[in-house]
Amino acid sequence: MAYTTSRIELPAMTPGSGGRHLVVHRFGQLGARPKVYLQAALHANELPGAMALHHLLPMLLKADAAGRMRGEVVVVPTVNPIGLSQLVGNRHLGRYEQLGRDNFNRNWLDLAPAVAERVGERLGADAAANVARVREAALAALGELHPLNELQTLRVEVLKLSIDADVVLDLHCDLDALLHLFISRRDWPGAAEVLAADLGAEATLYNDPYPQSSTFVAANGALWAKLADRFPAAALPQACLAVTVEYRGQQDVNHALGAADAARLMRFLQRRGAVAGRPGPLPALKAEATPIAGMDRGYCPCSGMLVYRVAKGERVRKGQVICEVIDPSDPRGPAARTPMRAGGDGLLFARQVDGTLAWPGKGAFSIAGPKPLAHRVGLGSLDD
Ligand SMILES: [Zn+2]
Repeated sequence: MAYTTSRIELPAMTPGSGGRHLVVHRFGQLGARPKVYLQAALHANELPGAMALHHLLPMLLKADAAGRMRGEVVVVPTVNPIGLSQLVGNRHLGRYEQLGRDNFNRNWLDLAPAVAERVGERLGADAAANVARVREAALAALGELHPLNELQTLRVEVLKLSIDADVVLDLHCDLDALLHLFISRRDWPGAAEVLAADLGAEATLYNDPYPQSSTFVAANGALWAKLADRFPAAALPQACLAVTVEYRGQQDVNHALGAADAARLMRFLQRRGAVAGRPGPLPALKAEATPIAGMDRGYCPCSGMLVYRVAKGERVRKGQVICEVIDPSDPRGPAARTPMRAGGDGLLFARQVDGTLAWPGKGAFSIAGPKPLAHRVGLGSLDD
C-alpha cells in the first residue's frame, strides 16, 4: 500500500487567523506512470466535482490496498481553501478572490519560457527523453519561485503537484448546465475523445489549437504545445491531456450523480492504465467536439428580470428566443420584455442562472454550435 495523505500549508494573511491548507491524497507508487492529477472546486463554490471525488476516494483507497494501482493518482478534493472561506452576507462567493479580485482560474503561470530557457537547446529526436527533460525543468523552475501571499503560494504548490502528470482533470461546474468539457484541439480526436466518451460528456468544446488563456488547464496542457511550436525540430509529444470538466450546474451535488461520476472516472483511470481492471467497452460518444469559436454566448443587453424560454439541453435555432430581460417598471406587458436570441444553431448546454436579476453584460446562456460564428471568432478562448 503506497497511499499517503499530506497537507500543503498556505501563509496566514492576517494576524490571529492562522493559515489555510490543502489536503492532498496520493495513490500508487510515487513516480509510477501514468500519473493522473484530479482537483475540484478551484472556483470554490463549484462542488459537484468534489462530490464525484468524495465517491471516488474510497474506491481508490480500496484499489490501493488491494495492490491494484498501476500508475500514480493524485487527488485534491477541494483545491481552493481561500475561496471556500469567502462567506459574505450569508452567501458563499467563489470564482474571484476577494483580496485582489483575481479570477481563481486565470493568471496561472506559463512555464514555457522558463522551460525553453533551461532545456530548449537539448531537445532532440528522442521523445521520451524530451518529455522527461521538460518535466524536470518545469519542476525545477517552480522550485525556484518564492511566492509570498496565499494565492500565489497555492498556485505554485498546486502546479508542483500537476505539472509532470500525464492527465490533468480540473473539475468545475457551470450554474445550470449539462456535463461538458473544455479541451485543446490537439487532444481531439484521441485522448480527449476517450475521456468524453467515458465521462459521458454532452458537449465538448475545443480551443484551437490550444487555450490562449491563463487557466490552470492551459498552464499544464498548453505548455507542451507552446514548446512544440517553439522547437519544431524536436520530438515533443502532447505529453499531458489537460481538460476542464464542467460537472453540470452548481446545485447538482447529490449521491446519485456523485456515485455515477466516480464510477465513470474510475473507468477512465482503468482505461488509461492508472488502475488495474477492465474498463469494459468504450461508451458511445454523446457529442462530437465543437469549436469554442462556434459557441454562442448570450449577454444581457440591459437591466431587469431575467426569464428563460428554453430549458438546458434543447437544440435551438439561430434567432430563437432563449430568454428575456424584463423591465419591471414598464407597464406595457409583452412590450416590456427584451428578447435575447440564439446567435447560431446548436445545443443550449448552459444557462447562467444565479438569481433572476439581469444587468448589462451579464452572461445568460451558452450554445455549442458546429461551426465558427462570425461574431465569436477572434474573441479568444473561453474556458472556465
Ligand atoms: Zn469554474
